[in-house]
Amino acid sequence: MNIELSVVIPVYNEEQGLAALFARLYPALDRLDIAYEIVFVNDGSRDGSAAVLREQFQRRPDVTRVILFNGNFGQHMAIMAGFEQLRGRRVVTLDADLQNPPEEIGRLLAKMDEGHDYVGTIRRMRRDSAFRRIAGKSMNLVRERITRIRMTDQGCMLRAYSREIVEAINSCREINTYIPALAYTFAQYPVEIEVEHEERAAGESKYSLYQLIRLNFDLMTAFSLVPLQMYSLAGMLISLMSILFVGFLAVRRLLIGPEAEGVFTLFGIVFFLLGIALFGIGLLGEYVGRISQQVRERPRYLIQAVLERQDAAPALLRPAPAANEAESGAA
Ligand code: UDP
Ligand code: MG
Repeated sequence: MNIELSVVIPVYNEEQGLAALFARLYPALDRLDIAYEIVFVNDGSRDGSAAVLREQFQRRPDVTRVILFNGNFGQHMAIMAGFEQLRGRRVVTLDADLQNPPEEIGRLLAKMDEGHDYVGTIRRMRRDSAFRRIAGKSMNLVRERITRIRMTDQGCMLRAYSREIVEAINSCREINTYIPALAYTFAQYPVEIEVEHEERAAGESKYSLYQLIRLNFDLMTAFSLVPLQMYSLAGMLISLMSILFVGFLAVRRLLIGPEAEGVFTLFGIVFFLLGIALFGIGLLGEYVGRISQQVRERPRYLIQAVLERQDAAPALLRPAPAANEAESGAA
């Protein structure tokens, strides 16, 4: 049987919200009247999410598959694992918290029928805190400037990709990445549509401020060297200025004599330069750290188990995940 649509959903501590998700997601997909599958990836939840997913698998084994990680590897790694296991011709990603209404999936697919291989989304009336909205907007601006990625709303995960794009993503061995942006770089006919956005059905956001900052660093460093280049340009400019300044002081000393005033102005300048230097070292660290993670070539994630129907053909060709953990991550 050819599966038309694979829906990939990362799940991390979403126990309370999952029932509501199932209640809307399955009817919405049944209504589309196509062969579909839903791939849940449990990203090492510490609550009962895994048990809830297993129950749901038993209820709808025909269309449900569950990948269980044995640790928390992050939302984007969870989606990656889903991408590597799915079988559908088209792929939609979705959050588990019902902030992306499953009823919109049909509209994404209709847009793909028009020949687009990537359907991005813009959240109409975004239901997040003002801080998240403003921070999101400003990160968007920076990203537009330093990468060639054009996304009106980078934060919304409700997106549709063609299988070709997903295969291209699968062939990337990136560890710190941002899937919508990575997919965009492979897209030939991307398009964006507006979708609804709702408040979280239950539970709370899994991203702290710290994690949001790290995620945005991933987005910048994985797709652009501009931050580093800007830094070296600034370094050049500053050294040029200091050469001029030293020249000026030398001439002044010869003509007017030594000077002792203005010491604190000098302090001010020194602290400013120190600040830039420290920022630059940190920025270098962001890149170097990612390089070192990448060269270690550890498996990006470890799968503990996959729940799927036994007659699922591609699964039989694959080595058992538990026996071959390192491979399932690095393959
Ligand atoms: N998520 C995940 N692993 C994580 C953090 C989040 O799989 O380490 C999942 C989470 O279960 C949800 C989605 O990623 O399905 C988006 O998370 P969340 O709603 O907390 O993010 P926000 O909407 O606040 O950006
Ligand atoms: Mg959310």
